[in-house]
Amino acid sequence: MIEMKGMFEEEIGLFLEWLVRHNRYVAFEGAQVVSQGGIGHVSVPQNHGPVYQGRRILTVGASYRIPKVDLGNACCPHFVTGEITTGAEDIVYDGVPVVMVGDMGKHWPGCGTATVFVTEGWRRIPSPVDRWDFASHEGQGGFTINAGDDPDSLDLPGKPKAPAMPPQGIFSIRAGDDPNDISVPVELLKSGFRQSDDG
Ligand SMILES: [Zn+2]
Repeated sequence: MIEMKGMFEEEIGLFLEWLVRHNRYVAFEGAQVVSQGGIGHVSVPQNHGPVYQGRRILTVGASYRIPKVDLGNACCPHFVTGEITTGAEDIVYDGVPVVMVGDMGKHWPGCGTATVFVTEGWRRIPSPVDRWDFASHEGQGGFTINAGDDPDSLDLPGKPKAPAMPPQGIFSIRAGDDPNDISVPVELLKSGFRQSDDG
């Protein structure tokens, strides 16, 4: 267990670089988070965690916001707010786990899986090829988002579908057809298209 409280700034810098060499990227306030159907950021400023180069390193409990989540559900689109809920098991600040790229958060309103991944950290910017597997969490969905995706263009669960082709109608009239060439079924001509008003 590494306790960051009490580290000097120079020590923190060396420690961050050491972690990068082990493919671990410490997250700072302002870091990007990705949810199903939305992209947001950890709030600035945070009030807990070590400060390096004027920015706080995140610890579990950090708050984030996503201005627009759109999963195509009845509630969407909307703003959500949440908290980072997972952190390093072996690195803490004042006993609270430090947050790394890949850690997760939980938000309200709970649309979709209502979870995020932290996608940005020290020496690690979000990449269009990042893939975040929401399906392995919350037992919901089977959906993966790429960090570079436009949430509006994703085929998200519950997204309204384009209307299906019009049902094969009684008439197959298209714009530009000559009405005189349309063959109308005889039974429709007999009923005159009107609702029956019998009774
Ligand atoms: Zn929603």
